[in-house]
Amino acid sequence: MKITGLTKRYKDTLALDNLSVEFEEGKTTAILGESGAGKTTLLNAIAGLIRYEGTIEGAGSVSYLFQDSRLLPHMTAEENINFVLKKGDRGIGAAEMLARVGLKGKEKRYPRELSGGEQRRVAIARALLFPHEALLMDEPFSSLDLSLKRDLLSLVAELCAERKETVVFVTHDVREAALASSRAVVLKGGKIAGEVPIPAPYPRDFFTRYPEEEALEKILIDGRGEAQ
Ligand code: ADP
Repeated sequence: MKITGLTKRYKDTLALDNLSVEFEEGKTTAILGESGAGKTTLLNAIAGLIRYEGTIEGAGSVSYLFQDSRLLPHMTAEENINFVLKKGDRGIGAAEMLARVGLKGKEKRYPRELSGGEQRRVAIARALLFPHEALLMDEPFSSLDLSLKRDLLSLVAELCAERKETVVFVTHDVREAALASSRAVVLKGGKIAGEVPIPAPYPRDFFTRYPEEEALEKILIDGRGEAQ
């Protein structure tokens, strides 16, 4: 996916300022930035939800994973997923995917009969099975308790690597970027302040501090680093 000269203006706010960036196919790229940096605006532009200046090539269809689970309350876990599958879809089915996210035996439960963490797992399974070329994640781990964050971060990183997903992962958390992306691009004031490749293989260790985290923190705080 190639983005060139992307600009988005809301009245007097320049949310994205002539932004150019490429996202590698089959890899997860983190978009790291503080509140107001333009992260959600970038995702919305990729998803075609807003008007913008500039070009976005190769985005194709997208699937979205949000901060809240957004399950349909009157459908079971399995129905929530079957609902997004098209007839004739190949590959993994709803039951198999639910097992993969740790919900074997809970396929027939309604969202109200699942814990918050289990609802998240259904949302992850659904986002992965919704037909798409790119997966957009908007802070899906931000509001989670630490142990659940650890479990779901590693689950999503593992599934995305295994399924060769092309992912744009928005987060304000350097740790999350280090644990679940191959490259982190720092966004500041609608511009790229720098970027850092994160070559460590998956699965990554929640209790390891990766060397790239310091570089990313410096770019976030001082704007230093090699902008490109
Ligand atoms: P982030 O996701 O990094 O927190 P956003 O993309 O939500 O940042 O916002 C970037 C900037 O654009 C902010 O200054 C925000 O106030 C502004 N903005 C976002 N959406 C709108 C909108 N619908 N109307 C006006 N300003 C907006």
